[in-house]
Amino acid sequence: MRRLVFLLLCIAAIAAAQEQDFSKVQIKVTKVSGNIYMLEGEGGNIAASVGEDGIVIVDDQYAPLADKIAAALKGIGVTDKPVRFVINTHYHGDHTGGNLPFATAGSTVIAQDNVRKRMETGGKAGNGGSVAMDVKPAAKGALPIITFDHDVTVHLNGEDIRALHFPAGHTDGDAIVFFPKANVVHMGDDYVRYGYPFIDVTAGGSVQGMIAACEKVVAVLPADVKVIPGHGQLSNLDEIREYNTMLKETSAAVQAAIKAGKTVDQMKKDKILAAWDKKYSGKFITSDLFIETLYNSLTNQKNAEFLKHN
Ligand SMILES: [Zn+2]
Repeated sequence: MRRLVFLLLCIAAIAAAQEQDFSKVQIKVTKVSGNIYMLEGEGGNIAASVGEDGIVIVDDQYAPLADKIAAALKGIGVTDKPVRFVINTHYHGDHTGGNLPFATAGSTVIAQDNVRKRMETGGKAGNGGSVAMDVKPAAKGALPIITFDHDVTVHLNGEDIRALHFPAGHTDGDAIVFFPKANVVHMGDDYVRYGYPFIDVTAGGSVQGMIAACEKVVAVLPADVKVIPGHGQLSNLDEIREYNTMLKETSAAVQAAIKAGKTVDQMKKDKILAAWDKKYSGKFITSDLFIETLYNSLTNQKNAEFLKHN
């Protein structure tokens, strides 16, 4: 049931979170390493650096959970200081919904340039096919007030917390956030554990960019780094490798079908992702929806342009 609720929220998150009932949600806090914690409630996972300088969080779930999140952070018992900075990994509402209450309480919200643009204008989210949702413009007070193009570093709690932009992955405004001293990384939704990933092709995402992001992380981080996925339980590099292999193999299967002249409907009928479905086909992104995602991603020239940049 919890899983179903989560999956429904994934969809609702992007459209409209206001109608959800968050009253029963509890925030679970897990110590990850050093002074880095992971918070789970509903929506994307939160990373928190909690120390003598105050608190920095990565993503903030939904507005109605802000008080519970703040209470959970205080409950860690390390500091009474406030959340000084919020870093958003991308624009989706299940990761940025708490921006307004946190900013109102005095936090400074930081994100990649495209996160602010997409939150400001609103628009459409989707896989370029059957998944299509309207995104309302965010309130002015919810917008990131510091934005960056390539990367930004927040120097607090003895840590150089670095948010690095990976273009055209889950969206066109993704940041992966590194905590080098504690040896932790928050992947945003470039790495999730609910099955086939949602890739927001409509908002400039692509499977090629998601693969590039995963490969870079696996190549540069220490083998024992602790990995906070966008959704799902704490993870590690081996599990990112496995996920990335799935992304590459399923992309190759769709690419081969495109080359053979198959239409998307034929690919679905032929169940060309059957070998991966048992492990990855989910209630949110089914095998058919992932075929659409990969097809639209692999045939979208705009994404190829984005990729040249990194
Ligand atoms: Zn997302």
